[in-house]
Amino acid sequence: MVRISVTSKLDGVRSWSLIARETCPGAIGADGSLVPACAGCYAVGGNYRYPNVKNPRMENREDWKRPEWVADMVAELRNDRFFRWFDSGDMYAIALAEKILAVMEATPHVQHWLPTRMHKFPKFADVLARMQALPNVMVRPSSDSVTGDYTPGLHGSTIIPPSGIDVLPPSVTLCHAAKNDGKCGACRKCYDKSVAVVAYVAHGRSMAKVVREQLAA
Ligand code: SF4
Repeated sequence: MVRISVTSKLDGVRSWSLIARETCPGAIGADGSLVPACAGCYAVGGNYRYPNVKNPRMENREDWKRPEWVADMVAELRNDRFFRWFDSGDMYAIALAEKILAVMEATPHVQHWLPTRMHKFPKFADVLARMQALPNVMVRPSSDSVTGDYTPGLHGSTIIPPSGIDVLPPSVTLCHAAKNDGKCGACRKCYDKSVAVVAYVAHGRSMAKVVREQLAA
């Protein structure tokens, strides 16, 4: 059974997610440790430890392998106009990516936002390019930085420390949630293909610690 998530931040936009870290091969850097953005991940603590949040994400890891999964997802999204993939976890398998692409192609009435680190793996380049070519899909390859660094033309998002809000370059769009009690409200910038790079303001205690370490490095 398809298990859809509803998180308070997204203000009504639904999502499909997996367990963080264990489905996030892109979270591990070349030295074998977590990249900064993932070291402070919000989806490994807090509410994400509770069974009602954890269990659907665990079930989804097996559920997507069913032959009927694409048709079930398409039916599930018939009344959605925006959809977020992966408020936790990542698109860890090519077979999953191809199925997500099929869902995107069959739901042109939905604007899909897909954040990912799978762009680090060359074998995903083709399927990610086919997703990004769709008018109703915005793939946002995530930068590993928590200090606002990103590669233009590659990354669609980065994380900034609170002190970075006032010095944001014009090429980067500040996430509206930083000024809206941590919620999207009516903002849909992440789904918008004309918004090249979104900067999310670091939040939470573990992320604050990672940011301090990175700024001191
Ligand atoms: S930029 Fe807008 S849509 Fe994206 S996470 Fe922030 S508030 Fe939500």
